[in-house]
Amino acid sequence: MLGLRKNVSLKDLTTFKAGGKADYFIEISQKRKLIQVLRWAKKKNLPFFILGNGSNVLFSDKGFKGLVIKIKNKKIRKTKKTLIAGAGILLPELSNIFLKNGWVGLEWANGIPGTLGGAIYGNAGAFGEEIKNIIKNVKTIDINSLKEKKYNREGCQFVYRGSGFKEKKEIIWEAELITKKGNKKELKKKAEEFIKYKIGKGLFKYPSAGSVFKNIKIDETPFSKFFKKNFVFINGKKVEVKAGKVSAGFFIEQCGLKGKKIGGAMISDFHANIIVNFDKAKAEEILFLIDLCKEKVYKKFKIQLKEEIIVINT
Ligand SMILES: Cc1cc2nc3c(=O)[nH]c(=O)nc-3n(C[C@H](O)[C@H](O)[C@H](O)COP(=O)(O)OP(=O)(O)OC[C@H]3O[C@@H](n4cnc5c(N)ncnc54)[C@H](O)[C@@H]3O)c2cc1C
Repeated sequence: MLGLRKNVSLKDLTTFKAGGKADYFIEISQKRKLIQVLRWAKKKNLPFFILGNGSNVLFSDKGFKGLVIKIKNKKIRKTKKTLIAGAGILLPELSNIFLKNGWVGLEWANGIPGTLGGAIYGNAGAFGEEIKNIIKNVKTIDINSLKEKKYNREGCQFVYRGSGFKEKKEIIWEAELITKKGNKKELKKKAEEFIKYKIGKGLFKYPSAGSVFKNIKIDETPFSKFFKKNFVFINGKKVEVKAGKVSAGFFIEQCGLKGKKIGGAMISDFHANIIVNFDKAKAEEILFLIDLCKEKVYKKFKIQLKEEIIVINT
């Protein structure tokens, strides 16, 4: 198969820069080729994994015993009120197109190193905004039937850091995005402020996958009875509640885990919900810190942290 590579390092394909090798790897930018590859993998009985830009995944050191398919569909096409964009386009590229044209809704996405497909899969967002807000519809390829499917926004079943695509066996191929005009100057200013904030927080200093855990819905905690309008008291501390959620980092920090290191991995000292690879970390070391956070937070607060990142530990 043209373009197919063997024993490809997953370190080079993920922003965590950790993990073993994929038995097989291929980049796909054409639908016809995607279907051909899926047929080939099925015939060989190979498990496969769909990769965007690898900014929200952690592969184990054992790697992936199968085929990793990286979606590189970067085509874009303008219609009267929308932009049809390929799932492989990077969020900063897409955000810049929106900003250049003065379209509202992607100012937050400039500093997020993922693809549109990955963002739809996990309903990525920041600063109170989410990708779902600009989605008109999404086209996928069904892995079983190899047929194309189309979902409107409701059909995508978006939730906080999730979508119906997490359950479906489908590959996000392209999306139709709403292009509503706004004030170009204001949108640019907002985007610059957002990126400055992220740089200021040290988010790009070391390899990572952004936030490891989902923030905690306050009504799912033992502290919901102490919830006032925008804050809650937890063990005598006043903690901010944003969109009904408390930062997972707060609980990790309260367990004294900020800055905790194992090998080349560290629970970052600037944001407890981010684990960084500061010195050639093994996936195993990152996984150890993930488990440590879950264990300590549960023991102290009876709160079960849930991963926002996708862990592939086959
Ligand atoms: C420095 C940094 C900052 C970040 N900041 C944020 C932030 O502010 N907000 C936020 O939400 N996230 C953030 N992230 C996490 C990440 O960038 C986003 O979740 C991003 O949307 C993931 O996209 P990706 O293409 O890298 O997906 P990947 O990591 O490649 O994949 C993630 C999941 O999506 C699936 N997937 C990917 N593409 C497709 C497709 N075409 N079809 C079907 N399934 C697919 C994969 O199978 C996998 O399960 C950050 C990450 C980093 C490293």
